[in-house]
Amino acid sequence: MNTSTTRSTQQWQAADAAHFLHPFTDFQALAKKGSRIITQAENIYLTDSDGHRILDAMSGLWCVNVGYGQQALIDAATRQLGQLPFYNAFFQTATPPAIELAELLAEVSPPGFSRVFFSGSGSEGNDTIVRMVRRYWDVLGQPQRSVILSRKNAYHGSTMAGASLGGMSGMHAQGGLPIPGIQHIEQPYWFENGGDMSREEFGRVAASWLEQKILAVGPEKVAAFIGEPVQGAGGVIVPPDSYWPEIQRICDKYGVLLVSDEVICGFGRTGHWFGCQRFGFKPDLITFAKGVTSGYIPLGGVLVGDRVAKVLIEQGGEFEHGYTYSGHPVACAVAVANIRLIQQLGLVQQVHDDTGPYLAELYKQLADHPLVVETQTCGLMAALQLGRRDGKGGGTRGQRFDESWSVGMVCRGHCFANGLIMRAVGDRMIIAPPLVITRAQIDEMAVLIRRCLDLTLQDCQRNGWL
Ligand SMILES: *Cc1c(COP(=O)(O)O)cnc(C)c1O
Repeated sequence: MNTSTTRSTQQWQAADAAHFLHPFTDFQALAKKGSRIITQAENIYLTDSDGHRILDAMSGLWCVNVGYGQQALIDAATRQLGQLPFYNAFFQTATPPAIELAELLAEVSPPGFSRVFFSGSGSEGNDTIVRMVRRYWDVLGQPQRSVILSRKNAYHGSTMAGASLGGMSGMHAQGGLPIPGIQHIEQPYWFENGGDMSREEFGRVAASWLEQKILAVGPEKVAAFIGEPVQGAGGVIVPPDSYWPEIQRICDKYGVLLVSDEVICGFGRTGHWFGCQRFGFKPDLITFAKGVTSGYIPLGGVLVGDRVAKVLIEQGGEFEHGYTYSGHPVACAVAVANIRLIQQLGLVQQVHDDTGPYLAELYKQLADHPLVVETQTCGLMAALQLGRRDGKGGGTRGQRFDESWSVGMVCRGHCFANGLIMRAVGDRMIIAPPLVITRAQIDEMAVLIRRCLDLTLQDCQRNGWL
């Protein structure tokens, strides 16, 4: 049965509005407008309930790395559901898919990572991070070492710990966050904070904010620093190349654990298996989720480096933490199939050698568009900062639009209407297409992007914003 044909779009929308509270959504506003109902997908294209074809330049929510409709993943799930749909890993038991995935993750992880703790999502993975780094210092007899440092405009998930680690002010404003023992430094966002500095100069300055914070808190109290190699939800903020090596040096200097949240950057997104490899740093812990299963089924976790694993295993005793679905056999079977497919298709290499550089080239050309004041790409993630190039009101790199004009949302509306999913973070337009995207499809995407920028430009001119 094809469920999309069982009801009309309006019927779906009515039932949706009546019963389904969506994440990160103004419930009332959406109910008035009606959701877009997505019914099918294949490769990089979605189909909605009105039969429109949409190029999904966001890989669902940064996760469908191998694209939609991959039979190997579907078969792995179906087979495992039949054989053993669930068993837990609590009571000194394990299932073959979980063991196989743990082994395979050790193979594709950076050197020094041979162990994994599974969760059901990225947020839960970061909850595990908080528990694990604090436990690590406890076991070492330094329980006062409990403060975790993070960055403003970071996204680390939406559970209490995940949202606290994250640096989204809107999230902190609801529900009494952050939880105690988490502090934030400013992000390495050159367009916003770079002043007159060159990118590389700014990268070192932005890293020095970590050292200042460690000294302000007291190095004996700082447990860990967490960051996304490239901030995803924050707007594809690609740090200068000088940033991460300096962060690494500072963490090493004070013995602070370094955590790389690779929920987006992991599994090929940057043209490397993990983003830390793109930026040349060696974390102690890595959070993963999203791309590990290409989003076909939920799974997340923490890759545990030797430094932490040795202490927890040899001195830690029982670690009082875990989830019902830690090592879920169906999720793990899909992840194994997904990682093998990434290997077979050579997707990491393809992004590194071919499609990543090709996208970068096209984005350089988009930098000529009168609405675009900055472009950034990293592998297959990219951002277009919209603004005024005349520097009206100052600003060496162009000027932001008035926030109340919501130019990003105007642009996003044109994208939707023209069959393209591109996300707006303020006036920063971002993409992260499936890693299977071809050069021809990148061309197709670039044509759509330029068309939507042109339509947005016309709106801006009509409203006198330029
Ligand atoms: C999406 C995301 C998370 C949260 O993952 P969920 O599966 O939504 O809980 C955490 N960190 C980063 C960097 C993310 O992009």
